[in-house]
Amino acid sequence: MLVLGLETSCDETGLALFDSKRGLLGQVLYSQIQLHAEYGGVVPELASRDHVRKLIPLLEQLLLQTGVIKQEINAVAYTRGPGLMGALMTGALFGRTLAYALNIPAIGVHHMEGHLLAPLLSNNPPQFPFVALLVSGGHTQLMAAYGIGQYQLLGESIDDAAGEAFDKVAKMMGLPYPGGPNIAKLALQGDPKSFDLPRPLMHQALDFSFSGMKTAVLTRYNKVRGQGREADLAASFQEAMVDTLVKKAIRALKQTGLKQLVIAGGVSANQLLRERLESELKTIKGQVYYAEPALCTDNGAMIAFAGWQRLKAGQQDDLKVTTTPRWPMTELQPPA
Ligand code: ATP
Ligand code: MG
Ligand code: FE
Repeated sequence: MLVLGLETSCDETGLALFDSKRGLLGQVLYSQIQLHAEYGGVVPELASRDHVRKLIPLLEQLLLQTGVIKQEINAVAYTRGPGLMGALMTGALFGRTLAYALNIPAIGVHHMEGHLLAPLLSNNPPQFPFVALLVSGGHTQLMAAYGIGQYQLLGESIDDAAGEAFDKVAKMMGLPYPGGPNIAKLALQGDPKSFDLPRPLMHQALDFSFSGMKTAVLTRYNKVRGQGREADLAASFQEAMVDTLVKKAIRALKQTGLKQLVIAGGVSANQLLRERLESELKTIKGQVYYAEPALCTDNGAMIAFAGWQRLKAGQQDDLKVTTTPRWPMTELQPPA
């Protein structure tokens, strides 16, 4: 089955073609970073309009790049939620209409299930059951995953998401968006032990809190401003963040008795997080899995792949276009 995946939940327009026999055939991605840069955050209306502008040219580019003709596509998967209502509408309408025109099935996909399943596209995919640490721009969650659509929430952030904290810390240090990769790069030149930052909620089993950590960085930054300590501060912040994520992930493995950990979402591209988890999990005979960096952040491939998990079971949506801007992942069901 050849599935076209469409991602438009926020500020990235991502399209991909996934073939159930041959794997990922190709993907194209357009990021709106430049468009929103002058406003200091994503402007929903501008995001929607830009998705509309980019969807058709990107589809044409994807077809050209993969040598596929439209009529060969067997199904369309689009992001149904969570995300910005207007942005979701553009991809959903485009996908649903294209499927109708081609007389093929369409399915709406949960964006976070897309992130969670992306590591299954790698050469060494994990098998259910596993614990998933979802760390992205809008989510920080620990989930026990028992199968497609069988997710149990173990813990989550009570305030900022991990990626959001990276982005906010980067912003106050004058680094461009997205903050995660820029903090990680600067941290390479710094000493992670130079600032002693708090690890909030360590006493609480599996929930996270990053707002206080972010404020602590701001306080330190204001104290040492102009002294050239940015790299040290970036390294110390990344250390505190990784330390917290690793400890909670291991706690979740112990609590569930599971040995496999899957990390997904943009922050799972972080090299220190990957290395630390690899070495720590060795000591408890566990295994960590993640997607290649381009499939950690938003992309159409994860949507095509997550859609296929349900399409292959015969599941599809009716002609009504549904978007669900707020959509807890635990509401998902196994493929019908
Ligand atoms: P959500 O998926 O929750 O709706 P999103 O789609 O905006 O949010 P993603 O695209 O999964 O989030 O990830 C983007 C986030 O990942 C940004 O906050 C970015 O700073 C962070 N990120 C990307 N690369 C890295 C990295 N190497 N280290 C740390 N953080 C990173
Ligand atoms: Mg984005
Ligand atoms: Fe995302």
